[in-house]
Amino acid sequence: MDWLWKALGGKSGRNQKRSQAIVDRAQAATDELGQLSDAELAQRARDVTAGSALQDPAEFLAILGIATKRTLGIEPFAVQSQATLRLLEGDVVHMATGEGKTLVGAMAATGYALMGKSVHAITVNDYLAHRDAEWNRPLVEFFGLTVASITEAMDATARREAYACDIVYGPVNEIGFDVLRDQLITSRDQAVQHGADVAIVDEADSVLVDEALVPLVLAGAEPGTAPTGQITQVVRTLVEKRDFTIDSDGRNAFLTDDGAHRVEKALGIASLFDDEHVGTTLVQVNLALHARALLIRDVHYIVRDGKVQLIDASKGRVADLQRWPDGIQAAVEAKEGLVVTDGGRILDSLTLQALMGRYPLVCGMTGTAVEATDQLRQFYGLRVSVIERNRELRRFDEADRIYATAEDKQRAIVAEIAALRETGRPVLVGTHDVAESEALADALTELGIETTVLNAKNDAEEARIIAEAGDIGRVTVSTQMAGRGTDIRLGGADEADRDQAVALGGLAVIGTGRHKSSRLDNQLRGRTGRQGDPGSSVFFVSLEDDVVVSGGEGENHTFTPDASGRIDSKRAQQFVDHCQRVTEGQLLEIHAQTWKYNKLISDQRTIIDERRSALLDTPRAWEELSARSPERAAQLAELPQHVVEQAARDIMLYHLDRGWSDHLALLDDVRESIHLRAIARETPLDEFHRIAVTEFKTLAQEAVDQAVATFESVLIDGSGAHLDDAGLARPSATWTYMVGDNPLAESGNSLINGIGAMFR
Ligand code: ADP
Ligand code: MG
Repeated sequence: MDWLWKALGGKSGRNQKRSQAIVDRAQAATDELGQLSDAELAQRARDVTAGSALQDPAEFLAILGIATKRTLGIEPFAVQSQATLRLLEGDVVHMATGEGKTLVGAMAATGYALMGKSVHAITVNDYLAHRDAEWNRPLVEFFGLTVASITEAMDATARREAYACDIVYGPVNEIGFDVLRDQLITSRDQAVQHGADVAIVDEADSVLVDEALVPLVLAGAEPGTAPTGQITQVVRTLVEKRDFTIDSDGRNAFLTDDGAHRVEKALGIASLFDDEHVGTTLVQVNLALHARALLIRDVHYIVRDGKVQLIDASKGRVADLQRWPDGIQAAVEAKEGLVVTDGGRILDSLTLQALMGRYPLVCGMTGTAVEATDQLRQFYGLRVSVIERNRELRRFDEADRIYATAEDKQRAIVAEIAALRETGRPVLVGTHDVAESEALADALTELGIETTVLNAKNDAEEARIIAEAGDIGRVTVSTQMAGRGTDIRLGGADEADRDQAVALGGLAVIGTGRHKSSRLDNQLRGRTGRQGDPGSSVFFVSLEDDVVVSGGEGENHTFTPDASGRIDSKRAQQFVDHCQRVTEGQLLEIHAQTWKYNKLISDQRTIIDERRSALLDTPRAWEELSARSPERAAQLAELPQHVVEQAARDIMLYHLDRGWSDHLALLDDVRESIHLRAIARETPLDEFHRIAVTEFKTLAQEAVDQAVATFESVLIDGSGAHLDDAGLARPSATWTYMVGDNPLAESGNSLINGIGAMFR
């Protein structure tokens, strides 16, 4: 790979001109190389990538391009070759929707694989993982390499086989869950994966920034804790402002003194803040209050079939796999009068950011990388390369239409859609949540406008629906970012009525409100105007929108609306932009703060990992235990060496894993109580670090001491250590989930701050 770095001249080579020159040379080399047979070409590619011999990256690109033409039937555009080069250099490329990032990722993956690196091509869902792997297969196999995809339904054996391929496409959460499950194995052959040298992340800003702190959790069965019925009941009677307040960003709720007194009286206790109540009753009261005040039915969750089902705010639909941290989940169930489900013992957890940190090299592509430049640099040390469009953008982005009230705005949106519908021009409406999308669809249906609402629960179905959004007369109402990665072609997926759709002005995109980040606005706009198509986008904003209210807090402006409630002023426009910049700043700050907590856990996890690997791959467990307890070792002398080694390994790993799980639980508690202390203005992060470091040292020591005790007492015979009989069974059932913890979520769904802020 060295040759590539050198050829590109390292850092300074990052300028576009230099790689443009390489692409030009690649094009020049194409004619001659094009004479070679398939076998000769594949061999040439292997020669070019062999070792660190100085070879010509231009030739390499040319070979990839010719192979693409022969296998996939399309010729890469120059911009795609250039983007491929950037990915091979480890950048995040900024490349607009519809510019063909799938091919860029495929060429880069193939390139890395040719250099002998194992590649994980990371997607946002199952459907895309499968689609892209299959699409790319002919190119990969042309070079004698292998490719597979990971999907949710696969069992361990199928996964193991898939991960053995040179290039593995997989949804980020499945890959993360596999990492977590592999951290519980007791012998190496149970592992399904073994990491990879390179991660190529599609929709990179979504995975690396928006979802970065979403924790993937592995849990084993164990009963949970919920606020008691009495506490739930008392909290239900509390009145906002008098008994509790909600902070401006809607992430935390606090009891007032009045509220605290009311609760204390009802529960018959002297003070919630007494030592005996702080870690128990107060925590439960806070959980109940969080559920009561911040989590709103039909916005943050729905109740269906007697169960609480979370709504994934970033996607705006039911998130089957998600649940809140146990206490919150139970509190919401109690609030709704449902059966409180068993919690799980958290065995391990991993944020997507920590997952990405496991790859020696990360690169990726997205239509909105530039806007995430700060985050990508700060959190991953990644640079952004902007790739020009293949064809000039013909989309018209209208200035925001700003209204005084949400009602005025809603009326205007409906009128605008109705007017567009008259012309037959396709319309795609981006809303922020399920409730909003349904309310809008209802209003449109009342006017006799047929509307397709996107709340399909299945990625493939969702992709099919969104693919048709460019058809004549179609009105599609979607929630945030639904169907990311799907190609919206004018005139329908088959482009049958393309000419007519073009004549009408292409797909009209309407945003029902600015997002908390301009990146998400741009993602929505990017759904139209692909590959030089005509199109337009406009956002409707009201001064009552969350972004404006929370971003504009403390500012005093008077705007004069016209009779329709519209505020047509440059000043108002600037104010809205300002509000969004404020919310963007808040998100960045939350991310940075939260990562400081998670980073420490992640570092500790790495140490545990190393220890686990040593125990798994060497006879160290047996050596350590027999050194500590030679008499016991002598008693086992009759047994075969591999049996006692595995027995020792099982014992050591049991206590190590249990210790880690306890450590995570303890850190949860610490962070909860630290939140309470933060009110008293101590410095929570330092305090947290101090405790976490001290406790981690204890963990390591205790895990060994307990293992020695078990080694001395447990029955060990020809079939190994009988840990189950000693009450030291590993959880028989495990399951995985993602915690609804997205900071981009609308207020209330984020548990990053506040009492619900636990590490999961
Ligand atoms: P993106 O992920 O950048 O939004 P896609 O990878 O989904 O874009 O590609 C959009 C469309 O463009 C697809 O239909 C794809 O087949 C097509 N496409 C990509 N590259 C080329 C090319 N070089 N020549 C012709 N069509 C292409
Ligand atoms: Mg794509």
